Amino acid sequence: MAEIRAIFFDIDDTLYSTSEFSQMARENSVDALIHAGVNIPREALLKELSEVIAEFSSNYQEHYDKLLLRIPQETCKDINPAVLIASAVVAYHETKFRHLRPYEDALEAFKLLHSKTNLILGIITAGLAVKQAEKLVRLNLLQYIQNDAIFISDQIGVSKPNIKLFLRALTDLRLKPNEAMYIGDNPVNDIDPANTIGMITVRNRRTGRYTGLEGKTRPNYEIHNFYDLLDLLARDFNIKVQN
Ligand SMILES: [Mg+2]
Repeated sequence: MAEIRAIFFDIDDTLYSTSEFSQMARENSVDALIHAGVNIPREALLKELSEVIAEFSSNYQEHYDKLLLRIPQETCKDINPAVLIASAVVAYHETKFRHLRPYEDALEAFKLLHSKTNLILGIITAGLAVKQAEKLVRLNLLQYIQNDAIFISDQIGVSKPNIKLFLRALTDLRLKPNEAMYIGDNPVNDIDPANTIGMITVRNRRTGRYTGLEGKTRPNYEIHNFYDLLDLLARDFNIKVQN
């Protein structure tokens, strides 16, 4: 087994529970709309919002504008729509401020790997540059991540599952594939391409939409939390960070 020099991480549903966070943020924004005077049952409003997000994609900027167009006008009459949209947006952002946190064991693993090894800790993620970067800031993990080891599809012009995104990380940091580990939750977008180019792959089977999905290839490892990661690093790669 080659010596590992770098570990790259996916962000969403790997470093924090994106699915649980999104649900909470949506519920809080809907509650804010109702509090601001929209007269619709909470469940109905949540369902309508889910449809907007499904139809216009999660990265669309005007979910609440569309939501207000879709509900009966008499349910929000006499309220300035800009005030309603602002109420929902503020509630969403406040949820980020209060609840966007990494898994505790992920934070612990980053701290230990950063302080006790010379490993490059990096990110390979698919999404909009500003959104993915904001997540890294809010997760408070940037202090452990090497500056030049953050690869966001939007900035590279290549997205998952294209192997070029993963190859770019290896080339830029002068790594051989078997010197680099990739950890992600999506078997098709994360594990298959990283396997294809010969990286060491770790599937984080914890939460999210993909826990039941299988890809074309098998990961080298499966973990359920980041203590599992520290265990396999100690056992198979002689990287020992715990007493
Ligand atoms: Mg993910």
